[in-house]
Amino acid sequence: MEDCIFCKIINKEIPSNIVYEDENVLSFKDINPQAPIHLIVIPKRHMTSVLEADSKTVGDIFEAINKIAKQEKIDKDGFRVITNCGKGAGQTVNHLHFHILAGAKLDEKMC
Ligand code: AMP
Ligand code: ZN
Repeated sequence: MEDCIFCKIINKEIPSNIVYEDENVLSFKDINPQAPIHLIVIPKRHMTSVLEADSKTVGDIFEAINKIAKQEKIDKDGFRVITNCGKGAGQTVNHLHFHILAGAKLDEKMC
């Protein structure tokens, strides 16, 4: 979608640090990390939030998260997955995305 920063990352119109890519899902490092490991996971098809998400997309994303956790070796110590939906939750990019946070004691709200 035009003017969507995450669509631009998918199309490689702006640079990012990609850690995982498959047919339907992309994951890259958050530009403003809130934990030692802070990744963003997105569907390649634009949708604004959980409110537009279908079960296939959510399944693809969580299968990717499973692989990423093992690839990044955060599966043993643990990690947190967060999605913000709407202004009140602090969603700033209107392309569905999941935060993966790890590498620190995750006691507090971090996203
Ligand atoms: P949210 O507040 O849930 O909408 O999260 C949006 C996240 O996207 C924030 O953690 C930002 O730091 C991150 N972000 C925004 N622009 C970029 C970018 N160009 N590359 C990587 N992460 C980004
Ligand atoms: Zn988008």
